[in-house]
Amino acid sequence: MTITVKALQKTGPDQPFRVADLERRDVGPRDVLIDIRAAGICHSDIHTIRNEWGEAHFPLAVGHEIAGVVEAVGAEVSGFSAGDRVGVGCLVNSCGECAACADGEEQECTGGKGRKVGTYNSVDVDGSITQGGYAQKVVVDDRFVLRIPDALDFDRAAPLLCAGITTYSPIARWGVGEGTKVAVLGLGGLGHMGVQIAAAKGADVTVLSRTLKKEETALKLGASRVLATTEDDFFRTHRNQFDFILNTISADIPVDKYLGLLRPRGVMAVVGLPPEKQPVGFGALIGGGKVLTGSNIGGIRETQEMLDFCAEHGLGSWIEKVGVDEVDDAYDRVVAGDVLFRFVIDTSTFETAKAESAEAVAG
Ligand SMILES: [Zn+2]
Ligand SMILES: [Zn+2]
Repeated sequence: MTITVKALQKTGPDQPFRVADLERRDVGPRDVLIDIRAAGICHSDIHTIRNEWGEAHFPLAVGHEIAGVVEAVGAEVSGFSAGDRVGVGCLVNSCGECAACADGEEQECTGGKGRKVGTYNSVDVDGSITQGGYAQKVVVDDRFVLRIPDALDFDRAAPLLCAGITTYSPIARWGVGEGTKVAVLGLGGLGHMGVQIAAAKGADVTVLSRTLKKEETALKLGASRVLATTEDDFFRTHRNQFDFILNTISADIPVDKYLGLLRPRGVMAVVGLPPEKQPVGFGALIGGGKVLTGSNIGGIRETQEMLDFCAEHGLGSWIEKVGVDEVDDAYDRVVAGDVLFRFVIDTSTFETAKAESAEAVAG
């Protein structure tokens, strides 16, 4: 038995999206069936389905920023019941046994090939390819289902499941708090969450951008100021000023110069992934004992902590809603940087969309 739902799939990297029937597995003993109310569009979705990160498995539905309502649960599920408000992020399974899993850092699972399962384009435990959240419903192991507090609406909560936790985790790990001087590099989907979260932690947040174009927006998000990195002598004027730099930029930057903006023992955490290698001179780390580190989403426990934190502080993603027939255009606008700050698919628009038959998709 499977559950037939409508989903937005592509049959190849250059094909447009189309609504097609998708078979979800039946609800197993540890599964939660979720009626999806909002699905965020992450830049990773675009890289994946356009084959920019290797070969995608087509036909494919992407989406790992999922918010919705529990429709049914398996016999052994005790933590969720029908009607609960829930979310799913980038992971839908892990080994559950390795040291990382035991620590609640499932995103770093070392349990071996096929044990850590991404929400889409991954080989699932049954050998099938996982299909993401651009769909009406999804079936997920209960260990990977998050609770969405009542204070968060689905549209603003969905992007938290990726962009929110990606920025929350390094901010929390490196102890950003009251009075910490934080610089956020890049004000896009990730940066706009980093600014909000760091400011809510009590930090003094500066956005570093090429121009002052986004100043008004940055201040609304909670930043204290915006500095234009193109100003004369910028890197000399502002050296040794920050305790923590959250680098969300996925393009080439002079990393050494930015490390110079950190005070001694300061930390730069990178969460954006540029396509090219970035050269770093060790001298920029040795002088001042600085730390250059990375971070990859976060574990399930910390993702829940992030959702609760955002609810408590009234944070959420700034979003623009699109229907299922507008996603191709939305992709082009994300690539062009033309969105404040995340697109969210209104999954109720599947209702009136006509699904192509599975045969048509396979052909
Ligand atoms: Zn993502
Ligand atoms: Zn593991």
